[in-house]
Amino acid sequence: MIKRDDTYRHLGMRNQLVEELKRKGIKNEAVLRAIGNIPRHLFIEESKFTAFAEKAYSDIAFPIGAGQTISHPYTVAFQTELLEIKKGDKVLEIGTGCGYQTAVLLEMGAKVFSIERIKSLYEKTRVLLPKIGYSPRFFYGDGYKGLPFHAPFDKIIVTAAAPYIPKDLLLQMKENARMIIPIGEGVEQTMNLLTRKNGTEFEKCELGKFKFVPMLNDKS
Ligand code: SAH
Repeated sequence: MIKRDDTYRHLGMRNQLVEELKRKGIKNEAVLRAIGNIPRHLFIEESKFTAFAEKAYSDIAFPIGAGQTISHPYTVAFQTELLEIKKGDKVLEIGTGCGYQTAVLLEMGAKVFSIERIKSLYEKTRVLLPKIGYSPRFFYGDGYKGLPFHAPFDKIIVTAAAPYIPKDLLLQMKENARMIIPIGEGVEQTMNLLTRKNGTEFEKCELGKFKFVPMLNDKS
């Protein structure tokens, strides 16, 4: 579907991005379809101008304001693929940012509860995202605490680097739930996939190095 301010030229660039992600190893059809459908240039202010549109469809990260960055499309695809999203899954997302990752999850049929700790980003995305056609539940708060009143979740995705695995998030996972979270305090972090086996047991798997902005403690 072509939305307003989206053109066949953008669609062409998106198809190329999808091919690039396939070459880099992304296989999940639903993830690739979502990325092929979402007008990423509308999430990035400057790329509304034609001269910048190509940037929006390159596999790069760049600033979204307040010192934060939108994740690389490959990182978004990699994290989403590992979540194994099913239609109707209740997903907790930590780090709304510009809402692109949120849109990918919604496009795949998930119900998304997204938390952002920076007020200006929260305000901006809460207005912008529904205009593009995506309506998650938005929360301004601290991702370390999750959303106890809306728990438990089928899936949890953390899109900022955490120094450790927040205990509150583990407790908000349903049985068999998956959580994907980059862990580490250095320039690079290790992607961790956690699966809740039962009330007390979790399985942990490490899946390579990535670069995220750090997850921060206090709201601002
Ligand atoms: N997924 C986003 C970008 C991630 S950048 C996108 O696609 O645009 C990481 C985001 O996590 C930033 O917006 C940052 O403000 C937010 N963040 C950092 N620490 C957080 C915390 N403790 N709780 C919630 N959000 C946090």
